[in-house]
Amino acid sequence: MADRAPPAAPWFRTYLWGPQKHDLAYAFGSAEFRRHFRDVLVGERQGRRYAIAMFSLIATIVVALTLALPGFDRSFVLLLPVYFIAFNAAEYLLHRFPMHRRMKGMELVFEHVTVHHNFYADEHYYYESPRDFYAVVLPFHVFLSLSAAICSGALVAYLVAGAGHALFFAWVGYAYYLLYELLHFCYHTNEDNLVRALPFIDRLSRAHRLHHRTSLMTRYNFNITFPIFDRLCGTSYRAREADPT
Ligand SMILES: [Zn+2]
Ligand SMILES: [Zn+2]
Repeated sequence: MADRAPPAAPWFRTYLWGPQKHDLAYAFGSAEFRRHFRDVLVGERQGRRYAIAMFSLIATIVVALTLALPGFDRSFVLLLPVYFIAFNAAEYLLHRFPMHRRMKGMELVFEHVTVHHNFYADEHYYYESPRDFYAVVLPFHVFLSLSAAICSGALVAYLVAGAGHALFFAWVGYAYYLLYELLHFCYHTNEDNLVRALPFIDRLSRAHRLHHRTSLMTRYNFNITFPIFDRLCGTSYRAREADPT
């Protein structure tokens, strides 16, 4: 399998839909998959370009929604923690179930295992070059699905409480999505990177690193941002002193 290189993927297919099934027929966490991913699927500059494009896109949406929000509304202050908890629950449930178990109709998000965990498995937890960014930032089709979910929630808020509440719901949704991407991006940076000097990033990154252990990934640390639902559901795992991290 390793001797014959598959044909190079057209750039738009990799950007839009990620690797295809036949690209992923490698042993889990194998050096062959990492090599194939870097050389055939991503290309020299695509990882960095893709990360910049996606961060810019989500940040632009957040800024646009911030500008579009009506003036201060007291109910927004009360709703913010409610929405935050709801998005934290959604992050936990999506990650624990369809992203880690093949579920009918949701096979595309199982790419989290076939790409992200396959590429960043066990001791291979950190970026080694900017092209590795491609295996961290969520694929574009997930952006489209999350946008559809956020817009559906905003539509419900519009029907119940009007345009201001719809914009506020969408603002929290995209701000949470940006937070998820930023934190997850920082977790996979090397330990001597400046962002790792921030104690909460370092602590969260260590917890996420445990989730990247092949033996633990289907059982522990499913929250990517803050481990609220991991604590509530008893799936929080912290390394003991003796554990290598
Ligand atoms: Zn990760
Ligand atoms: Zn995972």
